[in-house]
Amino acid sequence: MQDFVDIDKKNKQYQSLIEDSPLAIYTSDQDGRLTYFNPAAVQLWGRVPVMGEDFWSGPWRIHFPDGRPMNLSDSPMAKALQQIARFENQEIVIERPDQTFKRLLVFAIPTFDDQSTFSGTQNTFVDITAKTSYETKQSVLSAIVESSDDAIISKDLNGIISSWNQGAQRIFGYTETEVIGKPVSILIPTERLKEEDTILGQIRQGNKVKHFETIRMTKIGKLIPISLTVSPVKDVSGNIIGASKIARDITEQVEAQASIKRNAQNLELLNSIGKVILEQLEVKEVLQQVTDVTTQITGASFGAFFYNTYDDNGEAFMLYTLSGASSAQFESLGMPRHAALFKPTFSNSEVIRVDDVTMDSRYGKNMPLFGMPSGHLDVKSYLAVPVVSANGEVIGGLLFGHPEVGQFRAEHEDLVESIASQAAIALENSRLFEEIKTMSDKKDEFIALASHELKTPLTTIKGYLQLLAKKKQDRVNALFIEKTLDQVAKLNALIADLLDVSKIEAGKLQFNLEHFDLRLLLKEVMETFPYTYKTHKIIFHDANEPAIVYADKQRIEQVINNLLTNAIKYSPAADLVEISLFKDAEVVTVRVKDYGIGLKEEHKSKIFTRFYRADGVVNVSGLGIGLHLTKEIIDRHNGQIGVEGTFGVGSEFYFTLPANGG
Ligand code: ADP
Repeated sequence: MQDFVDIDKKNKQYQSLIEDSPLAIYTSDQDGRLTYFNPAAVQLWGRVPVMGEDFWSGPWRIHFPDGRPMNLSDSPMAKALQQIARFENQEIVIERPDQTFKRLLVFAIPTFDDQSTFSGTQNTFVDITAKTSYETKQSVLSAIVESSDDAIISKDLNGIISSWNQGAQRIFGYTETEVIGKPVSILIPTERLKEEDTILGQIRQGNKVKHFETIRMTKIGKLIPISLTVSPVKDVSGNIIGASKIARDITEQVEAQASIKRNAQNLELLNSIGKVILEQLEVKEVLQQVTDVTTQITGASFGAFFYNTYDDNGEAFMLYTLSGASSAQFESLGMPRHAALFKPTFSNSEVIRVDDVTMDSRYGKNMPLFGMPSGHLDVKSYLAVPVVSANGEVIGGLLFGHPEVGQFRAEHEDLVESIASQAAIALENSRLFEEIKTMSDKKDEFIALASHELKTPLTTIKGYLQLLAKKKQDRVNALFIEKTLDQVAKLNALIADLLDVSKIEAGKLQFNLEHFDLRLLLKEVMETFPYTYKTHKIIFHDANEPAIVYADKQRIEQVINNLLTNAIKYSPAADLVEISLFKDAEVVTVRVKDYGIGLKEEHKSKIFTRFYRADGVVNVSGLGIGLHLTKEIIDRHNGQIGVEGTFGVGSEFYFTLPANGG
């Protein structure tokens, strides 16, 4: 302070002005030694220099603004000393003892004494550290804003656009000059204008709107999905003056999500159609489902399956199933015309996919007509996939149409092809199934007819034989007649069984139900059974109590006869058959046990089906229908039938009937 007074006693006012100045000010003599520095200079240097000893270079190190080190002799202060010239507005960076940096504007000016003799320099430093860092920040920020992929837009509280970045231009198509000052509503589709009010309402209350997914409109009117984040913008005093909004184009994201959803749906559809194809034998049903699903998957406005019933004229595809269009639109023609378009699919099993059939020269200039000429379906996009059998025959084709161009893509082609190949298998299976069914129906018809035709002459033969038997005959003749009558009885029984089988198939087997004692019936059968006293002995294990059932007595007798006959037939080496009756509150059970050839496990369930005979019985006569009839009779009485026993040891057949008519 003492020194300062020495330097400038004259003007106290200037003195305090400089002393209190926020600018760093110091002076040096002509050798560069410090002659004065104010408190702001001390503050800036970060140290107190020694007056009269330290040189003008207050700081330790100095740098150019770009960070390169600067020799002290190159500094504006040194140059002002050496060249006795003014060096003003020079930017330097000083490094302080605590290793922090300050960016300064230097004004180095030579000073002169009263006699205009050069006496030293006066230096003023303006600290621009804060300002430049703000500017840097600003320029970094605006670089970020400009380089952002997102649209960054600011608007005032009335929704008027005040800034617009490159991203916004790219997404919405407007240039900055086109939109500044315009309302942000130019970007909003009419039906969504209300959203802007809601958003501005939130902003006025100081709230942020985050990741709001909506639709906006570009300059050319294209609607795009975007995700919006809108935040309030405040002035220095905290008043809300507008909003900044970041809009991200989420078209790709939305498309990706939609495609994931579509794929999942397609998988589900594929799965369900696979199941239908596997499980369903009804051709119409399978093809309808296939047509529906493929129409849905391709997004076609209609789809149809045509059978390939090619005639010699080359054009006769039969419409079989239809989806997405009324059959009236197809009815009058019943087949697609336009051979150029359809022939490749039906005759060469080619997939045809055309974005716009009306523009494709291969198919002529005329639109294909699906259906009646008036009111035909409008078709631009067209896809046709053949349904090809394993031997390469084109069974038919799946055809799809859409009134807009470019609707079908390669992925649709693949999906339809894979479904078509499954459908082809299903069609072949059901064709086989139909053939077998037709054959089986024919066989049933034949059995019914044959048994009828056989029965009439046999009845006549029997009548004549009975007449002959009554006449007096010698012993040999009488024996022959008796044997012939036995054979006629067997034939009759066979024909009766055949007739019964055809009745079962026709659903015409009828029962006359009555209450009767099964125990008594068994006893009667035992007494009359023709084999009893010949090859086998039949032992009856009685239940010793009545076993009343409500059933068709004749049919139950037929069942018992069948089981006993089989027991004897299939135990040629044995001489015993046992029959037992059991009774409890619920059911009565009859068991027929033999000691014959028995049955392998794999045959046990099958022998109850029509015409089935276990292997190894070729030498035993039979048609394989007795057990089928037996089972039908017991089933229809709500009873159960089954077989136990061991192959090579013997069989034990059993059946149950509800007790007391249950
Ligand atoms: P069929 O005796 O005329 O062949 P069935 O329907 O009565 O016809 O019997 C079907 C098949 O079941 C027979 O061919 C035979 O293989 C088997 N079967 C029936 N009963 C017995 C039995 N008691 N022991 C062994 N196998 C039997």
